[in-house]
Amino acid sequence: MAKWDYSAAPESTEIVDVRDTYGLFIDGQFVGPASNDYFKTINPATEEVLAAIPIAGETDIDNAVRAARKAFKKWAALSGGERAKYIFRIARILQERARELAVLESMNGGKPIKESRDVDVPLVAAHFFYYAGWADKLDYAFPGRRAEPLGVCAQIIPWNFPLLMLSWKIAPALAGGNTVVLKPAETTPLTALLFADICRQAGLPPGVVNIVTGAGPTGQALVRHDDVDKVAFTGSTEVGKEIQRAVAGTDKELTLELGGKAANIIFDDAPLDQAVEGIVNGIFFNQGHVCCAGSRLFVQESIAERLIGKLKQRLATLRLGDPLDKNTDIGAINSRDQLEKIRKLVGIGVEEGAELYQPACDIPERGFFFPPTVFTGVSQSHRIAQEEIFGPVLSVMTFRTPAEAVTKANNTPFGLSAGVWTEKGSRILWMADRLQAGVVWANTFNRFDPTSPFGGYKESGFGREGGRHGLEAYLRLKETT
Ligand code: NDP
Repeated sequence: MAKWDYSAAPESTEIVDVRDTYGLFIDGQFVGPASNDYFKTINPATEEVLAAIPIAGETDIDNAVRAARKAFKKWAALSGGERAKYIFRIARILQERARELAVLESMNGGKPIKESRDVDVPLVAAHFFYYAGWADKLDYAFPGRRAEPLGVCAQIIPWNFPLLMLSWKIAPALAGGNTVVLKPAETTPLTALLFADICRQAGLPPGVVNIVTGAGPTGQALVRHDDVDKVAFTGSTEVGKEIQRAVAGTDKELTLELGGKAANIIFDDAPLDQAVEGIVNGIFFNQGHVCCAGSRLFVQESIAERLIGKLKQRLATLRLGDPLDKNTDIGAINSRDQLEKIRKLVGIGVEEGAELYQPACDIPERGFFFPPTVFTGVSQSHRIAQEEIFGPVLSVMTFRTPAEAVTKANNTPFGLSAGVWTEKGSRILWMADRLQAGVVWANTFNRFDPTSPFGGYKESGFGREGGRHGLEAYLRLKETT
């Protein structure tokens, strides 16, 4: 019998003008790197080269920080209302160019177009709108304290949400009167460079936003630059620790948003079909390249068999493939290195005795893809229950009592997020009180909103992004007695 299936519905790439070679965005201009060194950025779904990207060295970083310093005086001296006009303008242009941004985000990063189009880009615009609204209210936001900008902010972001992480960093910094030098991840520089073009289009004064591309050493040079007042980093715990060491003993402010190994906890009174959707969204959204992904599933023992049966059925309906196809649920893994890391940890899971389940699915011949994967029979000591895999891999464990769920959920060096599924409101509050996680979602997962602070405990970092808390991270507050 013929199997019914979706027809291909690829989004056109015509709207995007990918240049052969890009420049660094310094002092309002695109300029070549002093070293004249470039690297190639690719489309992880096809392995095709998209463009040559400059590698910023120490001279370029110095130029970018100088430009930001020069711009800082005037930018900070503008009234909040004037700064807000620029930020609102950026937000509106982001909306106008939303399709272009979404297509480029999917081409360079591998995420499904329906996510970049419906989640990433709308949230990016929302962040700029939200923080534009704060710019003229700094005098009232922190009663009894006067808010001053910090100065030049060095911002380093990862590849999993290239534009969204840019917005979390740049929007509050600008609203607070700071100027920035931002380094996107090596594998996903293109939308940050398109954002630079948007800054020009918005008439943002030169030097307020600078974008420098390159790999780890570029980030290192930026963090270590003497004239930086604040470092904001999102990425791995390992690099976060290195940055903390580099900043120690200086007067640079620091916020770190690092890894996670979130618990998604399902009680026996939870609405199971909704919970299955929440589990899928929790771990397979963005191929699991999510710091707050619900990568550890804790199911109450009495419903475990039923729930896992439903989950397996649902997995079989996920469509993996071309990120630009509007039907695609699971796109490409961001890089070959990341694919290797996922393969290695999945291999370790099998060796350690966990039971692997993957639905039958066609893996494209070219590009980096990994099927949705569920491990059952996982124990707390397994590496797949402890380490951040950062891929579409779920480790399932069980519990009997709420106290046991809390103990198991907290048994991790991380503490970024958690999810609780139950019909009982009192149980949600009881659990939220005890879970060591910066964000606890109730009967939902992976919900983001610019008004809501996000950040970690323990090895997941410190500082908050989003909401008034996120604004505070870019301000020096002084008593007004
Ligand atoms: P990294 O932490 O290495 O990268 C994050 C950013 O930091 C990138 O822009 C990176 O540049 C830059 N960077 C790298 N080294 C330094 C340094 N010494 N000083 C300053 N900046 C630096 O993450 P990876 O991309 O290497 O991924 C490694 C693992 O980290 C993943 O497998 C995943 O498990 C985890 N990860 C977690 C994230 C999270 O949000 N929790 C986000 C991304 C990754 P470049 O891209 O050039 O390396």
